[in-house]
Amino acid sequence: MSQVRDAAEPEAEAELGELLVALRGKGGRVTTARRALLGAMLERGGHCSAEELAEAVSVAHPGVRLSTVYRNLEELERLGVVVHAHLGHGAASYHLASRAHGHLVCEHCGVEIETPDELFASLAQAAAQRWGFRVNPWHSAVSGTCADCLASDRAREIRP
Ligand SMILES: [Zn+2]
Ligand SMILES: [Zn+2]
Ligand SMILES: [Zn+2]
Repeated sequence: MSQVRDAAEPEAEAELGELLVALRGKGGRVTTARRALLGAMLERGGHCSAEELAEAVSVAHPGVRLSTVYRNLEELERLGVVVHAHLGHGAASYHLASRAHGHLVCEHCGVEIETPDELFASLAQAAAQRWGFRVNPWHSAVSGTCADCLASDRAREIRP
């Protein structure tokens, strides 16, 4: 894993540069807090709550507070750079819009499976045709039972 991370570092730096260019292109200001925030999101690859991001950012920038992180996430979301997803009952998970994806979340063990948008293609097509509804495949997770839990006795008791 460390080998992969080392090799990806210059790429992550380049991707951060691209994100900041995109941010400016959308009329957003690039601040220290935003740079640090986007850097932390790139590093973690998504699935971060605002609290986790605030913690990651505060390591190098102790002056950046949780309220600042919330405000910036909101603004970055409005600018289309960041999206949030609801994966369960807890806090929303933030993702870079460029890396947004769908999720299958197990109701029993909480495992999260990332899915490509194609998985929702037939649902999206049917919803559009029948109700003129545009499906957003990444905003909320699809709940269910994972293969491991289905195979376990516990899930069999819950769902015979
Ligand atoms: Zn995700
Ligand atoms: Zn939401
Ligand atoms: Zn499970």
